[in-house]
Amino acid sequence: MLASNHSVAAGDRVGPVVVAGTSTPAGSVSSRSSRRASAAGQASSSSTAGGPASGRGTGATRYGAVTGNGARTAGSVNAPCSVTAGACQNLGRHTYARAMTDATLPSPEPGERLERSSAEAVLAEAATAVDAAGESADMAPLDFPRRLLLVHAHPDDETIGTGATMARYAAENVLVTLVTCTLGEEGEVLVPELAHLAADRDDQLGPHRLEELATAMEALRVSDHRILGGAGRWRDSGMIGTPANQRANCFWRADLDEAVRELVAIVREVRPQVVVTYDENGGYGHPDHIQAHRVAVAAFEAAGDPAFSRDLGEAWRPGKLYWTAIPKSALQQGIDALKASGNEHFFGVDSADDLPFGVPDEQITTEVDASEHLEAKVAAMRSHRTQIEVDGPFFALSDHIGQRAFGIEHYILARGERGPGDGPHGREADLFAGITHS
Ligand SMILES: [Zn+2]
Repeated sequence: MLASNHSVAAGDRVGPVVVAGTSTPAGSVSSRSSRRASAAGQASSSSTAGGPASGRGTGATRYGAVTGNGARTAGSVNAPCSVTAGACQNLGRHTYARAMTDATLPSPEPGERLERSSAEAVLAEAATAVDAAGESADMAPLDFPRRLLLVHAHPDDETIGTGATMARYAAENVLVTLVTCTLGEEGEVLVPELAHLAADRDDQLGPHRLEELATAMEALRVSDHRILGGAGRWRDSGMIGTPANQRANCFWRADLDEAVRELVAIVREVRPQVVVTYDENGGYGHPDHIQAHRVAVAAFEAAGDPAFSRDLGEAWRPGKLYWTAIPKSALQQGIDALKASGNEHFFGVDSADDLPFGVPDEQITTEVDASEHLEAKVAAMRSHRTQIEVDGPFFALSDHIGQRAFGIEHYILARGERGPGDGPHGREADLFAGITHS
């Protein structure tokens, strides 16, 4: 009953974003033949946001990788989590439309008729692309031997901290499920022409960031992304001491039991072996990040307790829980490289010790090398354009330090058994190391 309590406002039509506990691939088409038909007819469903479907765990949720594009290029991070906005049109983009876009459709000259064989080939190609999208839509969580769940606070956190990891595992046919706890309504808007969306003006940043998130997930080819409690259930809390932090509906003031139940329902539905979230300080102290940590840890424990809320599904205890982490050595390298290139100092400091994030290298247990997916991560970063400034000094260094820094992501194992490792610190190279799949 949890998820269905939350009405989804018109502004929350979110394309492929799955609202927590519901299955809402926008414009989802029920049968392969109808998908074929709409492909041939130029996808009649392209802007229809499906209403929140009922059953949780019914297998109707869209799992698997989006067949999106993703060939875009680099930018520069403004801050680990600035929270911000954009324009709210066209929220109904979806996988089928994307599949159509990917098919090679020759454009006849005016007056020219396509040869029959050519037209058939085009239709066949389109149908294949649509079927490929449909195949993943029809899959249930347990069809994926490996399943990874990430709990993040705001749209963009997933990309900045774990984007390469998400892209890598999605490419390896792992079910990657992203749960975002707020829409990041209080973010600063870095794009001048979208400044009106900010909380202190039109207050329309949330829906826009949802769109940015959907685009970013296309770039990472992650299709199972959800907002905890449904879009708009909990609002960005802003920083401690700000008026935003006093709002009754902000995530910082969420009823923990309710939030935990929402997440337990998802854990029991997708049955991840691995869960990723922030450490107890939320990485760098943002209230929503701290709260995401609390909720994720409590849900990790509760989901496996058969006595806890039987109505939320069969108990499932994930094997491992990780915190995201940035090793101090990597931060220091970034600081030094920026300095050497004559750019402004990284966050205005000379030493990694002066930053509110970064952990001693020896605490890092796991290093995921997803350099091959850096392009997808950077494309996703560009998608969060109200939040992440492209073409800044950091990415100007991408030939050496920048790429490496962003293609390799680090974690600290917090629960579960450490798998076999390598290197001087014996770090795992895989979040699933040592996991026996089930
Ligand atoms: Zn954040």
